Formats: sequence, structure tokens, C-alpha cells
Amino acid sequence: MPGLINAHTHVGMTILRGYGEGLPLHRWLEEKIWPIEAKQTAEDAGIAASLAFCEMIRSGTTAFAEMCLHDTKEIFIAAKNAGMRGIIARGLMDFNHTEWVPKIMKEVESTLAHGDTLIKPSVSAHAPYTCSEELLKKAKDLAKKRGLIYQTHASETRKEVFDVQEKHGKPPYEYLDSIGLMDGGSIFAHGGWLTKREIDLAGKRKLNIAHCPVSNLKLATGAIAQITELDSAGANVCLGTDGAASNNSLDMFQTLKIASLLQKHHYWKADAISAQKMLDMATINGARALGVDSGSIEKGKNADIILLERGPNMHPEHDLISNIVFSAGPQNVSDAIIDGKAVMRDRKILSMDEDAMIKKADSASKDLISR
Ligand SMILES: [Zn+2]
Repeated sequence: MPGLINAHTHVGMTILRGYGEGLPLHRWLEEKIWPIEAKQTAEDAGIAASLAFCEMIRSGTTAFAEMCLHDTKEIFIAAKNAGMRGIIARGLMDFNHTEWVPKIMKEVESTLAHGDTLIKPSVSAHAPYTCSEELLKKAKDLAKKRGLIYQTHASETRKEVFDVQEKHGKPPYEYLDSIGLMDGGSIFAHGGWLTKREIDLAGKRKLNIAHCPVSNLKLATGAIAQITELDSAGANVCLGTDGAASNNSLDMFQTLKIASLLQKHHYWKADAISAQKMLDMATINGARALGVDSGSIEKGKNADIILLERGPNMHPEHDLISNIVFSAGPQNVSDAIIDGKAVMRDRKILSMDEDAMIKKADSASKDLISR
């Protein structure tokens, strides 16, 4: 089958898996994640990314969209070494210090030089509650000028919706649309608290929405993206895990199943979304969001393919797609091929020394926490 595509993640945070458990988003960010991330080096982010890529390959993910709060240079190197396909952006923030914007924009320009055929740079402003309007707009302008994908978080928590409404007189999607951020070249992560009008707007703009149900549930953000309605409205819905610090895994099979169950549960409708539609969101829709020609197995397309072994959890086979969405897991992934090259064969990762990588990540994490 085509490899799975993780349309929103933070691979640079993987060494923070399990850190700061049990807090809601804003406290989790302010009290735990941002202070420790401030102590993280670019090298730590690279080690964290390599750990993430081992996990991704084992769980059938062949492409990803990354937003990192750090220097992304080491993440580009790690992705290249792993043989992954993806887009990588530095998540910019100015906390309304508009005087920082020229320096931030100058710094980000230098990151756009990295990349090759498999790994492309992307531009990202973190969220409407951490960025001034000036930074949000400048970042989007830069993405447009360079033909790169723009990434941001939007409408994740109710607090964010209230704050944006109070400050700008509009809910987040309407606000971001009014400043020109919403189009087919943008990926907005989350989209949990949307009004009907915002859903229609997202459809009209052909916006890419990365739904991250596991992270939303775990951080108790309280609302789940209405992906069936967004899809019907014409938006391109794809799936993401978010970072391993808030998920706490990068397993897209889990995300597929939970995303589907949530729609059924929410609408009290067992047929709220089909297994095929769900799988499309994790493959071909993800490819569209990342701007890559992958996500389905067709002549002329990128050869990003995974092989599944039919273990006991995949039998009997009344419905293969349903087995993939509801029964499969990383244990079924035996081989992964990215751009025609085998990165895992018979469950052995070929592109990296996995054991050494895990040891390195454990010691980097220990060292970071003790700083
Ligand atoms: Zn995120």
C-alpha cells in the first residue's frame, strides 16, 4: 500500500516523549515545554528527529510535515540520513514583539537553503496566539514568494478562539483568512473549534487541515475537528500525530483508527465516515497537503510504498481496507520504500543504526532534563 503521510508533527520534540504529563495545552506549553525547549540545542533536535524517523519507518510513515521551534539544520540532516520524504519548517514566534520580526525573517531565510529532492523547506508561523499579525503575514508572503508550503496551528483550544475573537473580532479561521493566510498552499493543524461559516470558508479556500485527534484528546482540548463536514465542504483533510511529546506516539495507524471512531461517536452514526475515506486522508490527501506526488501507487508517481504482513490481527479478510484502518498496526509493517529505495527490509531499518540511535536519544533526553 502507499506509505502513510503524517501531515503535522514535531520530530525535534521526540526526546520529550512523556515529559510534562497530565496538563492541558496552555499550561503544558508555558510551564513545561517552552522552558525545556529553550534549553534544547539544534543537535538535540537532530537526535530527536532520528528517533522519530525510526518510529515512523517502523509504523509505515514515509512522509511528514515538520514544524520545529529550533534551528532545523540538524533535522534536515537526520531526515536525509533516514531517507525520509518531508517538509521541514521552523515554527516562528514573536509573542507580539513586532520589533523582533525583521531579525526572525532574516534568520528563517537562511534555513530555506537546506533541502534536496526528498526534503523540502517550508515556512511556518506557530499560531495566532504566539505571533503578531505582521509575523503571520510576512511568513506567508515568504512561503508564497518561494513556492513553499506554509504551516500553522489554528483553532486548537477554546481559549485560543476566545482570545482571537476578543483581539480581532473574528474567530481564528476568519481572522487568518482576512489576512491572506488561508489557501491551498497552507496546512492548518487542528481546527477543533470551527463555526459552520469557518468550515465553509476552509472548503472554499481548499485549505489543507491536519487533524491530530490523539494529541487533541490527550491535551483535553475539548473539541474534535469536524472532518466529515470539512471534507464535504471541499477542504483537504489530512491526518497528523502532532509531536511525540503530546501524543505520545507517531503511529499513524492509531491516528487512523481513533480519527474514524471519533467521527462515528460524535455523530452517533456508524457510517459517518468510510474506512476508504479515512485511509485517503492518511495517504493521498496528505500528499496533496505536502505538495508531493505520492500517496497512491500509480505509474509515474513517487515510489513511497510500505508492505504489510497479514498477521493474526489481519484475518479473516472480509474487508481489507477496514482491516488496515481498524486492525493493522506497526507490527504488520515489514518493509518500507521511499522514492524507490528500501529503507526497511524484513523489519530491519537499513538507513540507520536503530539501536545506536535509541541509546543516543535516551542519553540526550537525560542530559536535556538535567540542564
Ligand atoms: Zn503541533
